[in-house]
Amino acid sequence: MPGYEAFDQSEKKEVMDVMETGILMRYGFENQRGGVNKTLEMEKALCEKLGTRHAQLTPSGTTAVSTALAVCGIGAGDEVIMPTFTFVASFESILALGAIPILVDIDDTLTLDPAAVERAITPRTKAVMPVHMCGAQAHLDELMAICRKHNLILIEDACQATGATYHGKALGTFGRMGCFSFDFAKVITMGEGGAVVTDDDLLAKKADGYVDHGHDHVGSDRGAESHPFMGMNYRVNELASAIGLAQLRKLDSIVARQKQTKKYIKDALAAEFPRLSFRRVLDPEGDIATFLSFSLETLEQAEAATRALVENGVGGVFHYYNNNWHYIRRWNHLKERATLYRLPQEVLDGMPDYATKTFPQSDAIISRNISTAINLSWSDDQVKARTEAMIRALRTVF
Ligand SMILES: *Cc1c(COP(=O)(O)O)cnc(C)c1O
Repeated sequence: MPGYEAFDQSEKKEVMDVMETGILMRYGFENQRGGVNKTLEMEKALCEKLGTRHAQLTPSGTTAVSTALAVCGIGAGDEVIMPTFTFVASFESILALGAIPILVDIDDTLTLDPAAVERAITPRTKAVMPVHMCGAQAHLDELMAICRKHNLILIEDACQATGATYHGKALGTFGRMGCFSFDFAKVITMGEGGAVVTDDDLLAKKADGYVDHGHDHVGSDRGAESHPFMGMNYRVNELASAIGLAQLRKLDSIVARQKQTKKYIKDALAAEFPRLSFRRVLDPEGDIATFLSFSLETLEQAEAATRALVENGVGGVFHYYNNNWHYIRRWNHLKERATLYRLPQEVLDGMPDYATKTFPQSDAIISRNISTAINLSWSDDQVKARTEAMIRALRTVF
């Protein structure tokens, strides 16, 4: 999975291009930088790769999501629908803007259940933020139809799905804005980094300002630039962009290798365990194959299988039900509303009580699901040995 497994001379070369000029800032310094601007270059390459008009790099996926929400005008008291199974960045970004995260069930695609989304809509709902978890698609057709019908903004969190597609079109390019992460564990990495993309010229212009204190970037004197609105410092630095550029060029080959590995393991498990059910992937062609997810029949079986996999030396096994990062069940800080500052009254009044609210449908899915990482650096022999170890482990419980 992680792009860092593919590091070679090309990342070093891109970084050295930047160090030769000494200009780590993406803006200005036109005389000193001698035409080197890895950030612009990566933004352009990302647009080409994804088939989108605009891309704005950010220092993380979290700031990409924050930027998308802010640029779409989401703020105090607005409700944003998000899944129960995602990364904590989803609700962090919503709450940081004074908006209200409305958590909604997932289905067997491990992404937002459209019927549950529709039931959660209120007059305060402003946006729906599906998360393309573990490298594959949320229900885009249904979610786009719901957003059209109710006049809601669709923002895609494609942080785990760079390079994934749905019927040939890149994830992240269906909604009004799409968000990506290039942190150290993602399919391609900038060390830390991210991006927001859009086809909307005005939103792109706003994103360009928002990530740089609201600068309008007109003219060549930063001090003389005007600020049509307030922003943040969500600027990316040139060294990170240099690494990202080299990584982006490898994305296709990374995904091709992962797909081959995933298919091998999946076919072997399916042949051995006819009753094992695999995650429903809406368009398998467009899956970037960062994970192989399957579910057992009960929570107890999934727990036993997780233990057996670990005992058999299988690394990268995630039983998200018992994991603190990705599923509502263990998000105690959200349940306790544990912020360092007082949340706006609208949020305190309007946010459901997640300490008591239950999600039986999500629990039924996540409690039985195991996701296993597909690494990039495994040799064919290692893939074969891993598959054999997985079969040995699963035989003890299934
Ligand atoms: C990684 C991730 C993020 C945040 O990305 P960072 O770059 O780590 O800030 C947001 N959403 C999802 C689904 C992620 O997996």
